[in-house]
Amino acid sequence: MATLTNLLDFDPAQLVAYCAELGEKPFRAKQLQRWIHQFGVANFDDMTDLAKSLREKLKTRAEVRAPAIISDHTSSDGTRKWLVDVGNGNAVETVFIPEETRGTLCISTQAGCAVNCRFCSTGKQGFNRNLSVAEIIGQLWMAEFELRKTKGIEGGPKGERQITNVVMMGMGEPLLNFEPTVTALKLMLDDNAYGLSRRRVTVSTSGVVPNMDKLSQECPVALAVSLHGSNDPLRDMLVPLNKKYPLRELMAACKRYLEFAPRDFITFEYCMLDGVNDTDEHARQLIALVNDPVVGVSCKFNLIPFNPFPESGLVRSKNPRIKAFAQILMDAGIVTTVRKTRGDDIDAACGQLAGEVKDRTRVNERMSKMAEYQQKFGPNFGKIVEIPS
Ligand code: SAH
Ligand code: SF4
Repeated sequence: MATLTNLLDFDPAQLVAYCAELGEKPFRAKQLQRWIHQFGVANFDDMTDLAKSLREKLKTRAEVRAPAIISDHTSSDGTRKWLVDVGNGNAVETVFIPEETRGTLCISTQAGCAVNCRFCSTGKQGFNRNLSVAEIIGQLWMAEFELRKTKGIEGGPKGERQITNVVMMGMGEPLLNFEPTVTALKLMLDDNAYGLSRRRVTVSTSGVVPNMDKLSQECPVALAVSLHGSNDPLRDMLVPLNKKYPLRELMAACKRYLEFAPRDFITFEYCMLDGVNDTDEHARQLIALVNDPVVGVSCKFNLIPFNPFPESGLVRSKNPRIKAFAQILMDAGIVTTVRKTRGDDIDAACGQLAGEVKDRTRVNERMSKMAEYQQKFGPNFGKIVEIPS
């Protein structure tokens, strides 16, 4: 049997093109897209306002297939984490964080990650593979309709949406899986799909400078940048990609991004590591950096208390230290928040997402991808750099 085309792989324009191939008008694509992304319907027979002939055609050639759920846990604080299967022994995690006024979904873009940040358990497992569009948007599709099911909402219309915000802060570096990430973003923003505002969709990056520029052109959404170090030697150790795109280049890219961004600030994420990057001096260096007359940028800081994982060799900064650090930034007029750790009883907190199923079968493919990145981003790409004690 011929393989079925997964309709979750198509952005709005591609779905129109696919329907045209089947001899259908663009409005049919819109209807189809609404059934899929607004009503969570995967069975073509249930798409009652589509002509029977179209439904029959679709049944023989297409499918709507999100990644299968391997496990589903809810934390005592309401955070819900799914482990989903992305094939070949790989799994990624998707996390829903309910708050009073919003529901945020944290989605993954790669199985593993090649950037290998010192403090990140996803990085420690190395790069496995890029997720497809269907695997990225499929996390949102799956989560939205699982949440509705739990609440007893039947394939509801727009008003009953559970997920109001999306952050690409799960496993992987979204800007190193650029095209599928952008295609998925377009669906999140489309009025006939999820209709999220650009301000409510955030891409988080470790600083892939050329692709930050590309994103600003192709699909500007809110941007979070993982800073973690206040000077180059420190950031080189924590985020090896800094050797390729050092701080001043990164800051300049942030500044360019803001010309197109839906928000007038960049969110800098800063993982608080005891004795490594959390002194008063580090805070002062950050202030100087973001106020630099040439590359300075309008920003907010989000301090993330380090979430430990086995063998990281790192320790979370003590609460009073985090407070004092935040105060120094705030005294300099920088809006600063400390991220509340959510879902850590189910290992759903930032940097704890490792996927429990590891691929041991495709080592060669992974190594060649790593070699490609090292050629592109420098020989230290993905290498573990020890932090001097
Ligand atoms: N690759 C992207 C997005 C995924 S990581 C990026 O690096 O931005 C999402 C956020 O979690 C990043 O800011 C990352 O630095 C942070 N993070 C990773 N490991 C962490 C850990 N162990 N504790 C706290 N935050 C962590
Ligand atoms: Fe990759 Fe982000 Fe983890 Fe760094 S922090 S290893 S870029 S997922």
